[in-house]
Amino acid sequence: MTANFSCETIPLHSTASGTTFEIDVWRYQHPEATKTVYLQAGIHGIELTGIPVVHEFMQEIEEQQLAYNFICVPLSNPMGLDSQIMGVQTGYNNLHTNQQNCWNWNRIGNLEDEPSQEGNWIKTLLDLSAPADIILDLHTAGVETVAHIYYHESEKVHVSGLGILHLLSWKIPSHSFSDTNFQRGKVALTFELSCSRSVQDEQVEESLIYLRRFFGLLPKVEGSRIWQTESQLKKWYSPDGGVLCWHINAGDAVTEGDVIATLYNRKGKLDLESPYSGVLLLKNPIHAPHQRQELAKFLVE
Ligand SMILES: [Zn+2]
Repeated sequence: MTANFSCETIPLHSTASGTTFEIDVWRYQHPEATKTVYLQAGIHGIELTGIPVVHEFMQEIEEQQLAYNFICVPLSNPMGLDSQIMGVQTGYNNLHTNQQNCWNWNRIGNLEDEPSQEGNWIKTLLDLSAPADIILDLHTAGVETVAHIYYHESEKVHVSGLGILHLLSWKIPSHSFSDTNFQRGKVALTFELSCSRSVQDEQVEESLIYLRRFFGLLPKVEGSRIWQTESQLKKWYSPDGGVLCWHINAGDAVTEGDVIATLYNRKGKLDLESPYSGVLLLKNPIHAPHQRQELAKFLVE
């Protein structure tokens, strides 16, 4: 299937029962390549869509003989992927083996030199991506979202025209995998392709179209909106406990004061008004929130 790709398997650590967690790295070399791309999915174990996307795109790389070198890691976090409770993916944080702080798997670029499980794992990924010029880290978000992408404000040219409607520009890097790579001088983008925890064919296909546009296999398109992450991305917290029924969808435009959801609890029913004017970016996977639990994120005008 992938004759021009070579595969290397890297061991991470073994469990109490002696099972070994491993990462497969697929490398592709093109004789005319001037850039190396690191394409990765699955850092967060609840975020599944990117994994089939990388597998499918590897086939296209080979069929199209794309003139780049590629380092592909379709499943970058086997510990995260194998974290589930009663069939529900839970591997957003390391809640299995870190007894103190449940690290968010995508906020530990600073642990690279620590001889811990997390430190060894993130060092492995940072070492693998070190030769690359371009880092594409595939994520998903929320229980329902509209595709978006995080990028440093200097890298707008790379995220425009992909057909991703909402472009979230940041100035201040976090310890995420992409931001850590940006600070190493690379083009480093965090794609949020679809909702988390489930996979649908259409989401995989749409995500492949974004990658085809990125690599020039399809023409660029117009129509994205740019938002400043630090000032225009806002969280929304539940004013009370109860059962939440949304009346709008992720991606919908909202006006402050619109009734966008209803909360049912012991006091009866409470209409919830939009706290902002802008766009509902994503809904959290919370259907029975406690008071002050985060419900959603908005892009605010
Ligand atoms: Zn993620």
